Amino acid sequence: METIFSGIQPSGTPTIGNYIGAIKQFINLQNDYKCYFCVVDEHAITVPQAPLELRQQTLSLAALYLAVGLNPKKATIFIQSEVSAHAEAAWIIQCNTTIGELERMTQFKDKSQKNGRTGVSAGLLTYPPLMVGDIVLYNANLVPVGDDQKQHLELTRDFVERFNKRYSQPNQEILTMPEVKIAEHGSRVMSLQEPTKKMSKSDPNKKAFISMLDEPDIIRKKIKSAVTDSTGIIEYDPENKPGISNLLSIFSAVTDFTIDDLVLKYNGQGYGVFKADLAEAIVDLLLPIQTRYNELLHSDELDVILDEGAQVARLVANKTLQRMKNGIGLGRKP
Ligand code: ATP
Ligand code: MG
Repeated sequence: METIFSGIQPSGTPTIGNYIGAIKQFINLQNDYKCYFCVVDEHAITVPQAPLELRQQTLSLAALYLAVGLNPKKATIFIQSEVSAHAEAAWIIQCNTTIGELERMTQFKDKSQKNGRTGVSAGLLTYPPLMVGDIVLYNANLVPVGDDQKQHLELTRDFVERFNKRYSQPNQEILTMPEVKIAEHGSRVMSLQEPTKKMSKSDPNKKAFISMLDEPDIIRKKIKSAVTDSTGIIEYDPENKPGISNLLSIFSAVTDFTIDDLVLKYNGQGYGVFKADLAEAIVDLLLPIQTRYNELLHSDELDVILDEGAQVARLVANKTLQRMKNGIGLGRKP
């Protein structure tokens, strides 16, 4: 059976972008693959986080994983910092990655742009090696992520090839080569306020995203104020009409309608009706998830699941880490 790894940062509450681009895929995948779904809290601290909020968001994200339908009997659900092999592997990977490779990453360029070299942590630059570690430790064959992570996956594949060449014995590769798995639709949901920019849960402008825990009235308001254009014509043209095209993609991803169905259905109607219906579709999707989330957050079940998840994860991750150390020659004995 093939193996899947994917993670989300507790850097805020997941948005419908995270849901459509990543989480929604996880639900079906858990039936056909050996799955590891992680709350990557060590990634979140590459930018400043308030300690109490980080802890609360970590638990909240784990509860959301379960609330959307991830089943701990089928998938391993755990918190990254509770498996110390991630940080250890990241060090080894950093020492086998060049600064040039890391400086080319567009996520680093985007996230460091605002604060310059002295205002961002070294961890923001070395984020990809930590992510490489996440993936290789579980021998993942497939990594379901949004479009924005493609470049990090390419770096992962380059690393695996280089590492295996340098350190593996013939016919005994230390690391498994992973493939990226990007959703066919909705792999890049755009900001509601700046539809040429990716929707992000850490966006300081909360009107730019719908969080999975937003209340119905907030969802209605945010969709109503989503930036479109002045033509009033509902058509899919991401280049010239990024706002309405993004709303069409979201609408299609949260319902059974294709984009073509929606264009036909709303032909001749204004943006107002379309937006009102879209808001209701999002509310219908999120309300049951939120109800289940609230039950889970205050139950003991969550802690038990995360303890068990960390235990399973540690066993697998430590084995890979030991293989990496042996290959390199770290420590006294293989
Ligand atoms: P941050 O702003 O803190 O980076 P984020 O919203 O980008 O938060 P991540 O935790 O970095 O979320 O990413 C979690 C997963 O969601 C990844 O697989 C990522 O590719 C995917 N993802 C993030 N944003 C989007 C988006 N706008 N559309 C589709 N998928 C997305
Ligand atoms: Mg991100």
